[in-house]
Amino acid sequence: MTLPNSPEARDIAAHLHPYTNAKKHLEIGPMMIESGQGVYVEDRTGKRYLEAMAGLWSVNVGFNEPRLIEAATAQMRKLPYYHTFGHKSHGPAVDLAEKLVGMAPVPMSKAFFTNSGSEANDTAMKMIWYRANALGQPQRKKIIARDRGYHGVTIASASLTGLPANHASFDLPIAGVLHTGSPHFWRDAHPGESEEEFSTRRAAELAALIEAEGPETIAAFFAEPIMGAGGVIVPPQGYWPKIQEVLRRYDILFVADEVICGFGRTGHMFGSQAFDLTPDMMTLSKGLSSSYLPISALLANDKVLAPIIEESDRIGTFGHGFTAGGHPVAAAVALESIAVIEERDLVGNAARTGAYLHQRLSALADHPLIGETRGLGLIGAVELVADKAARKALEKPGQLGAAVNARLLERGVITRNMGDALAFSPPLIITEAQIDELVEALTGALDDTL
Ligand code: PLP
Repeated sequence: MTLPNSPEARDIAAHLHPYTNAKKHLEIGPMMIESGQGVYVEDRTGKRYLEAMAGLWSVNVGFNEPRLIEAATAQMRKLPYYHTFGHKSHGPAVDLAEKLVGMAPVPMSKAFFTNSGSEANDTAMKMIWYRANALGQPQRKKIIARDRGYHGVTIASASLTGLPANHASFDLPIAGVLHTGSPHFWRDAHPGESEEEFSTRRAAELAALIEAEGPETIAAFFAEPIMGAGGVIVPPQGYWPKIQEVLRRYDILFVADEVICGFGRTGHMFGSQAFDLTPDMMTLSKGLSSSYLPISALLANDKVLAPIIEESDRIGTFGHGFTAGGHPVAAAVALESIAVIEERDLVGNAARTGAYLHQRLSALADHPLIGETRGLGLIGAVELVADKAARKALEKPGQLGAAVNARLLERGVITRNMGDALAFSPPLIITEAQIDELVEALTGALDDTL
């Protein structure tokens, strides 16, 4: 029951929510979050929740880091906005571009600023097309992404995304975006197949897709080092070396979508480092500013950029850019967020407390509702099942996940169910005691659901 004129009633009346059943929202209404502190947030009734998703996998430094607030305030006072179109620039954009290029795990040459993960991936795709034309290879524009991959929701990045709900009734994906199988070993392996054999099969399927389409038509491959929104899918043994070998064999550009994995999430500064990836481009957002302000970035190496720079000279401009790209306040906050992550060794904390999280989650493996636990660093998931042997949840996909998720919420823990996988991606400042709190609530929620 929502009271007339309450924030809940006003939300129902005026606000269309992303990723929400818009009709059900009319009955259910919103959960109003009012404040945040460390790994906790508080709702309008004063109930406190352990935010085990860090918002949307993104508030890496926690919910009330004063250094980020001060960095924003100082930059607001000095120069609240300027753009970087034409030959204009400003200190925070230069400092952040230099910082990102310098900290990239493989040689990158420049950063381009955007405002969301979707825009960064959209921009990567446009740059790849622009480059193909610059190289006199207009036929080489097809892009391969993966089933269950998540790259955002603009027309291009939703096309890259390999999840049905992002395509249904949107008339997506657009032509020229192809999908290959996901690295979901637990779900997709054949009976008796080893991790190495499964990885070999996935790499062979990728090569077969490239051959079937014509290698001269394939420009790039987009992938998250660990899939997030697709269900926290950690690639199995041998997967990345075999996939990268195929990409090298056909000279296909590799775009690592580090929007979730970047800035410490996996216990490495970048997910690419966890798997020895050598991308040509990287897209960054979320943990870049700990989501205190919207900002994203695209890093590209010389192989990508040299032809683009020439083409911009031929045309007269690189005709792409966003009003708020490299926003000085967002850039100042991102620089401070990175400084906090580095100075407090939050990457090391993600590795250490992440190992503890996985140890505690794997101790739940015998629970009748758990099919698999997985993860790396401070990203993890439990795959819920009703029938362990058949690896099946309930008749309706996602129903079991939603039930356990709701019980966790009652117990004061916010997480997300991606179908029947329950994901965990807390702020990187989380302590072992707070992980105990999370796992105890999870155990209770599982028992309540039995
Ligand atoms: N890429 C990945 C891996 C993501 O997880 C997301 C968002 O969850 C995006 C891209 C899209 O980012 P945004 O929602 O900022 O557009």
